[in-house]
Amino acid sequence: MNHVELHEAKVPVIGLGTWDLRGQEGYQAVLSALSVGYRHIDTAEFYDNEEEVGKALRESRVPREEIFLTTKVWYTHLRSNDLIRSCEESLRKLQTSYVDLYLIHWPSESVPLEESLKAMEKLHRDGKVHYIGVSNFDVALLDEARRISPLPILADQVEYHPYLSQKPLLEYCQKHRVILTAYSPLARGRLFGDPVLRDIANKYGKTVSQVVLRWLIEQDMVVAIPKAKSEKHQRENLDIFNFSLTPEEHKAIAQLDRGERVASRL
Ligand code: NAP
Repeated sequence: MNHVELHEAKVPVIGLGTWDLRGQEGYQAVLSALSVGYRHIDTAEFYDNEEEVGKALRESRVPREEIFLTTKVWYTHLRSNDLIRSCEESLRKLQTSYVDLYLIHWPSESVPLEESLKAMEKLHRDGKVHYIGVSNFDVALLDEARRISPLPILADQVEYHPYLSQKPLLEYCQKHRVILTAYSPLARGRLFGDPVLRDIANKYGKTVSQVVLRWLIEQDMVVAIPKAKSEKHQRENLDIFNFSLTPEEHKAIAQLDRGERVASRL
């Protein structure tokens, strides 16, 4: 597996997204992902599956230090005390003493960013959080976070796929060395019928998912976290390291942008 290396973190370029994977299904999905080679798992307190993720991590017997584990604090818990309580609760459910990356899930209109970032620094000092980051921050907010934060902002997790360009944010991340984690990288399946993507997939004997994920991770500073519950899809989404796209194909895929979002804050 390839990694993006930054601030001594090694982040596998493909992680398993776990939104909507709960209960037995969630547990099985994480266990199977770890068994087929995933070493990067993305969860959140809001997904209501941290206990299942924790159980799978433990039962997989993969050494904890080999896994890059991300969780997120919900935007209603961004006051200092709430944030610290949320993180401790996440660690309890995940059955681990630390997460690799702790993200502010969505920005808040009411809590000053500085307060949340300071609380995250305390968690870092206490060894509970190795790296901190944000999610759903645009360029202006990310820039503010980077200026205020006592610690480097490792990543900004945002929706990114061929139907939704992130050009200004990506250029910012590449310039200032912030990882852009692409969520909903498959646009929840909406792009599977796309003729341009299908032609490229046919050329390489690959699937549209594989082409899209390859397109994402070939971009500097980008990692992707496709969600897949079946082992078949999980394996398919990891099998992207034996081909590469031409500059013309990169351009053709970038031109599919139509400003289409599949995710929104609930
Ligand atoms: P996604 O990864 O774009 O798409 C998931 C869908 O694609 C599922 O229905 C999955 O089906 C299907 N799929 C996966 N691999 C496939 C393959 N190889 N062939 C055919 N179908 C395939 O959507 P997402 O779940 O919205 O995004 C991924 C992750 O990003 C989430 O799980 C979550 O961790 C994160 N996320 C974060 C935020 C945020 O605000 N930070 C928001 C949204 C999502 P099966 O499950 O049946 O395989």
